[in-house]
Amino acid sequence: MSAKIRLYVEQPLGQGQSVELTREQAHYMFGVMRLGVGGQVALFNGQDGEWLAEVSEAGKRGGVLTCAQQTKPLQLPPDLWFMFAPIKKARTDFIVEKATEMGAARIMPVQTQFTNSERIRQDRLQAHAVEAAEQCGGTFVPEVADLQRLDKALDSWPDGRQLMFCNEAEVGSALHLAASEKGCPWAILIGPEGGFSDQERARLTALPYAHVVSLGPRILRADTAAVAALTMWQQALGDWV
Ligand code: SAH
Repeated sequence: MSAKIRLYVEQPLGQGQSVELTREQAHYMFGVMRLGVGGQVALFNGQDGEWLAEVSEAGKRGGVLTCAQQTKPLQLPPDLWFMFAPIKKARTDFIVEKATEMGAARIMPVQTQFTNSERIRQDRLQAHAVEAAEQCGGTFVPEVADLQRLDKALDSWPDGRQLMFCNEAEVGSALHLAASEKGCPWAILIGPEGGFSDQERARLTALPYAHVVSLGPRILRADTAAVAALTMWQQALGDWV
């Protein structure tokens, strides 16, 4: 049996485990979705897979669900960081949503020299990632990191992590991902609307762990480039194959 409503919760899930709802969750389930006692919901918490749960108590300000059976095992995405320079609010929201659906393990907003925005609302972006995971059937929610400077992120780059550098200066070239570094940690980097500075481009292309790629013969907007890059990576090295 499958439930229509999927809800991310922070409590542990397991056979017979009861889960108390927050006020907002209770409002959504009983007020908006009109569920009552005996109604079914799919729950996941990013650790215990997906569980079918039944409403055992329903109130205006809260409620209790009881886990009946596991419906999906935990499925972790590949170890892929998705790094991007935040752009306008609605487009940044879109990027976080798509990166979650496409299977990034960690979403990292980075400030580059031409980044349009200097602040992000990490909590709001994290909530977007939760919503995207709820609707796409995932059992994992990527962490959205706080905004950090690109040069700082490169200064403390972890050993062994490969970087797919989407470089708009390579537009139209034949640089694609070779399926060589499969199974190791990766990161994808997408620049802001203004692109990368010459200085950033010089540093990035010289990194021994960087793989410079082109995303085809046209310059894509950053939000389109995000989806295209994730597709390309998943196809060559990720969990699509
Ligand atoms: N204003 C810049 C384009 C920036 S596009 C210019 O006109 O050159 C935003 C980001 O999307 C880029 O920094 C790059 O990371 C990515 N991107 C867009 N199109 C691309 C392409 N054809 N190849 C590689 N990366 C691309």
